[in-house]
Amino acid sequence: MPIYEFLCADCLSFELILPMGTAPDVVACPTCRGDARRRITAPHISRTASSAFALIDAANRSAHEPAVVDSKKPGVRTGQTPRYTSNPLHQKLPRP
Ligand SMILES: [Zn+2]
Repeated sequence: MPIYEFLCADCLSFELILPMGTAPDVVACPTCRGDARRRITAPHISRTASSAFALIDAANRSAHEPAVVDSKKPGVRTGQTPRYTSNPLHQKLPRP
């Protein structure tokens, strides 16, 4: 649905998402309940094929629809922990 921008004489402009062709010329301002007139603005057209917009869209989408993780983090091994030292006394140190 398109985004319509309205301007109140006393307040700032605000946007409403309405079905196409149903936006009235005047709506009530959400702040002061006065009349707010619809503004004619440039459409928000973007090049959706670029990788930058794909990344932005993915980041925005992850806020509402986080991806389900069905496997463990890559590089994490299970079982015996790797040895970082050859000193046998280090094996007696407490583990997290
Ligand atoms: Zn207002």
